[in-house]
Amino acid sequence: MIYLDNAATTKVSKATAQLVYDYATEYFANPSSIYEAGMKSEELIADARKKVAAALNVADKCIYFTSGGTESIILGLQGLFFARREWCKNFVTTAYEHSAVHKTLQFLADEFNIEMRYVNPEPSGTIDSEKLLSLVDGNTGLVAVMHVNNETGAICDVGDLSTKVKAKNRKTGFFSDGVQGFLKVGTQLSGSCVDGYSISGHKFGAPKGIGALYLKDLNNYKPVSLGGGQESGVRAGTQNTPYIATLGDVVQRLFESSAQRHAEISAMRDRVAEVLTGAGAVVNSPEGASPYLLNVSFVGAKSAVMQRALDREGILVSSGSSCSKGQNSKTLTAMGLDTKRIEGALRISFFEGNTMSECETAARIIAEVANKYSGLR
Ligand code: PLP
Repeated sequence: MIYLDNAATTKVSKATAQLVYDYATEYFANPSSIYEAGMKSEELIADARKKVAAALNVADKCIYFTSGGTESIILGLQGLFFARREWCKNFVTTAYEHSAVHKTLQFLADEFNIEMRYVNPEPSGTIDSEKLLSLVDGNTGLVAVMHVNNETGAICDVGDLSTKVKAKNRKTGFFSDGVQGFLKVGTQLSGSCVDGYSISGHKFGAPKGIGALYLKDLNNYKPVSLGGGQESGVRAGTQNTPYIATLGDVVQRLFESSAQRHAEISAMRDRVAEVLTGAGAVVNSPEGASPYLLNVSFVGAKSAVMQRALDREGILVSSGSSCSKGQNSKTLTAMGLDTKRIEGALRISFFEGNTMSECETAARIIAEVANKYSGLR
């Protein structure tokens, strides 16, 4: 099998699974217990918090462990909103956010009579920050813009954008979904005006069910996950010590080896793009997109048909967001691409563990399958 759907989820290596096993059997005591074994679990969590914070270049106390990207998004957006509820009258976001962001904002908008303001991505796939800023005013409670788009890899400079948003309204809460960006493109949040940032472990080799939320300042945040007060009151519930410790180790290793990995992944992505465009594909990912994602279209072919045929050949890719099975791509639709291009889209996503030789093989087979079904050649 050649797995090229790493934006949906990544494989947990045996070494990482062994870490989980070791931590789970050794550090099983509740980190809130005051006896020594409990304190050891607590120290392990504190150490993991340091490792995640270092990768974002922020203070440890700004990192809160959650069950993954979706929970971080819900807690981040809701808590930032409730701290601004008295005066907030509109939300500004993009038309290509993940459904966790979109549905959470829509829920709050419906419940509290807030206006939703959307900016579409440009046909190139990027967000025009001037267009977004033109929607921000004195009543904008939240701005939510994803760091890296999960379908095309389009990058938004959220550090710069957050500063510009605050220049228009310093009280606006700025949230960025960092699930596809963290450890894959530069993520130094120190000095930025980003108030909340979501991280999901299973997108970079940690197990599913663990993630983190960055919050800049709890003074501008109202906790919404109520219970035992764990994670400084931001996320209630007994902490998942083995997964948290494993997440910390994976983050540290990836952070320290990022330059080499980025170079290898970029080379693989470029090679696949070269073979596929040579076979008639149109690239939907913008210039300068994350090297971890490549979105292409074979006009005339249907994504689902190609995916099934590729599956039979042992090549796993997707047509877009993993949460929108069977539906046309939300991002490509928002970019205003024509229907045939949207229907013939494939998302190919890379991570460590992929090799150049399997990418060469996959690209050749994708080209053959696509041409068979699109009638391009
Ligand atoms: N945000 C983005 C951009 C994603 O790609 C995903 C996963 O598909 C999520 C959020 C949700 O993350 P999780 O699966 O950890 O809940």
